[in-house]
Amino acid sequence: MPDDMFVVGHKNPDTDSVCSAISFAFLWNKWKEKGLSSKLKLEFNALPAVQGDLNAETRFVLERFGLNAPEKLTDASGKKVALVDHSERAQSLENLEKAEIVAIVDHHKLGDITTPNPILFVNLPVGCTATVLKLLYDKTGVEIPKNIAGIMLASILSDTVIFKSATTTELDKKVAEELAKIAGVEDMVKFGIEVKAKLSEVEGMSAKEILMRDFKDFNMSGKKIGIGQIELLDLSLIEGKKEEIYKELMNKKKEGYHSVLFMLTDIIKEGTELLIVTDDPKVVEKAFGKKLEGESIWLEKVMSRKKQLVPPLEKAFS
Ligand code: MG
Ligand code: MG
Ligand code: MG
Repeated sequence: MPDDMFVVGHKNPDTDSVCSAISFAFLWNKWKEKGLSSKLKLEFNALPAVQGDLNAETRFVLERFGLNAPEKLTDASGKKVALVDHSERAQSLENLEKAEIVAIVDHHKLGDITTPNPILFVNLPVGCTATVLKLLYDKTGVEIPKNIAGIMLASILSDTVIFKSATTTELDKKVAEELAKIAGVEDMVKFGIEVKAKLSEVEGMSAKEILMRDFKDFNMSGKKIGIGQIELLDLSLIEGKKEEIYKELMNKKKEGYHSVLFMLTDIIKEGTELLIVTDDPKVVEKAFGKKLEGESIWLEKVMSRKKQLVPPLEKAFS
């Protein structure tokens, strides 16, 4: 179908970017059914898509609520697309300039994507794209099915690290409670730990897979910066693999990066050990007000890449 619109999250898909693609595609198709989109001349069908393989957490979440993995899409040439959970070119589809961007629903800082025409654009500074989508469902009077509510709830618990991340807002908590009721999840924290535990399973993963599973590229004042993250229930789970991961950071840096950083985030201790390979240690030291001794620094209470890593780094680079 040439006129389908693909709804897709960022590269290295996480639970929010996959589940929000599914949830937004579902909502979009309901708008079409209700005739809401015809007034906007947006009456095409929406299909969820993903840019890469699903991680163990997302596979668990989709299985738990009986939903299929979206189809894969990496090239946007000639396609209609809606972007969720990102607005940065570096995190988006190949050949995005050859696509028609119809909508963006996100919860990050505004990226560098621009469009020639007016689009549907909704971005809120909340903990998760699913929180934004819940407001869109409510506002347009679309009922959320049980399984969609389940994956939206899982997205919020995942992105906010069970409400512990600095990105968490009161709205995320309120929306999560409402979704839990619809999905029939009685204990959100228990379910959240079950969800997060899936990403703590690093057994059998190579250092490269661990580095790349949740890795994002940023352009900071013209410098290419890569930041990966792993969130663990206990950092000792990964202690034996740290040296290997550091070697992978050095390899990755050869791909034209100024700096490659990796966040080893301890969900229970609520802090991050930041592994660093950089052309300029001074910039990183300036960003975090800490001296780099050896290969890493410990950042107390830091758990969020977008709220606690990216802003100070951008400032230090500017
Ligand atoms: Mg995401
Ligand atoms: Mg997100
Ligand atoms: Mg995340």
